[in-house]
Amino acid sequence: MPDDHNPADRKQLGFATRIGHAGRAGVKSHGFVNPPVYRGSTVLYPDAEARRDGGAKRFERYMTYGTAGGPTHYALEDVIAEIEGGTHATIVGTGLAAVTVPLTAYLKNGDHCLIPDSVYGPARNFATSLMKDWGIETTFYDPCVDEAGMAALIRPNTKVVYTESPGSHTFEVQDVPAIARAAHARGCKVLMDNTWGIHTFQPFEHGVDVSIQALTKYVGGHSDILLGSITVNSDEDHHIIRSATYTMGHYASPDDCWLALRGVRTMPMRLKQQEAASLEVAKWLEAQPQIKQVLHPALPSHPQHALFKRDFTGGCSLFGVVLDPRYDQSDMFRFVNALQLYGIGASWGGFESLALPTTGFVTRTAGSGEFGGTMLRLHIGLEDTKDLIADLAQGLRVLN
Ligand SMILES: *Cc1c(COP(=O)(O)O)cnc(C)c1O
Repeated sequence: MPDDHNPADRKQLGFATRIGHAGRAGVKSHGFVNPPVYRGSTVLYPDAEARRDGGAKRFERYMTYGTAGGPTHYALEDVIAEIEGGTHATIVGTGLAAVTVPLTAYLKNGDHCLIPDSVYGPARNFATSLMKDWGIETTFYDPCVDEAGMAALIRPNTKVVYTESPGSHTFEVQDVPAIARAAHARGCKVLMDNTWGIHTFQPFEHGVDVSIQALTKYVGGHSDILLGSITVNSDEDHHIIRSATYTMGHYASPDDCWLALRGVRTMPMRLKQQEAASLEVAKWLEAQPQIKQVLHPALPSHPQHALFKRDFTGGCSLFGVVLDPRYDQSDMFRFVNALQLYGIGASWGGFESLALPTTGFVTRTAGSGEFGGTMLRLHIGLEDTKDLIADLAQGLRVLN
């Protein structure tokens, strides 16, 4: 088996095969299948000269201190770089840290940043609180902007164009290649939160410079860890991201990295099952009289389905549901409360299904996100699809 040594060989292999083998070569496992958990603060040097020269080699994974990472982190980094098709990944403690690190690394006082109106809420909060305090201005833009529209938004001091596709809660698919063309023409870095796309959207083939993942979601897959990753496709960006995480003291628990390594081996199969199940549930919901619209990019009825078909190789198991306008928020709450198999909770990507009310909880300023009915978000887990549909059917009957 060509382990993770020869990228040319790897490209011939399927996704599940590559993910089953990535990150296993560089770690001493004494023949055991999985790498151990390397915990540690102090790293001992062979001699004083090695100590003197160590710091400069930090970007080459020369271990100097716990906060520079260790073999368990590096194994996971190799898997994530494989998934996203980048040259280097850096692991941080949460998905939100994977959002805030690159924003902090590429922006300084006096700069301007463009962020889609449909962005993950805590990312918006970071822009409107700390970034604002640091003298970084943000414009929230319509996620459905085209190339000319993006070009018109870029100012002389714009340094970062942030993207997230599809958008949190409302699932607008962005024209990332067009946005990236406009951004690169003006020297801006293109950041993307690619958590939904995980491997069905290859960020570096579509003009993205820095890809953000909440590994908390599908990579972990079991709702028991928090982790994030920042993947890049050049040495230059790698040095910028690695310096920023090290300078700010970002770190992830090696135990959580190990759980992510365990989770990710089954991710291709979980994704396949959850994608198919979510489409079946979405199609069923679409046909119900209580439902106005289902916001799932893989449905032909989705407003940006053509873009989705062009840029993504598959869907995922998280989508939005808009109730018929005759139902208000209290009706939507009654529906959600009646569900037996869907937990009411944030996060997603685990083995279990979730239902999350979104109307009244989502802030928008660029006029996007109005769908003419109260809304919720569903995450489809690994339960039997027929049971999940039956539960939604009994929940909807509460509305009659
Ligand atoms: C969950 C999520 C994050 C943040 O991940 P955490 O690990 O929960 O901090 C970032 N972006 C998106 C799109 C998410 O869904």
